[in-house]
Amino acid sequence: MVTKIINGVHALLIKFKCPKCDIDNSYSFADSNYQGPYRCWKCRELFMITIEGDKLKSCEPTTQEEFDRQNEVEALKAKFKKH
Ligand SMILES: [Zn+2]
Repeated sequence: MVTKIINGVHALLIKFKCPKCDIDNSYSFADSNYQGPYRCWKCRELFMITIEGDKLKSCEPTTQEEFDRQNEVEALKAKFKKH
């Protein structure tokens, strides 16, 4: 597992291939478990990814609507954390 330090936090660097264009993507996570949206840097295709125990468990194509909805959920979570 590749790790690196981001803003003083030991973050995980997950690498996976885009199912659409087959380009290598890497994404940094502060947690070894993550479920959320991701956009391929190359073909701009949207995916819902699930990471469990430092490994990519699933990578499903998603729609812009679902992507926006997930971002709203994450924004709401962040909002509630502050209070
Ligand atoms: Zn792609």
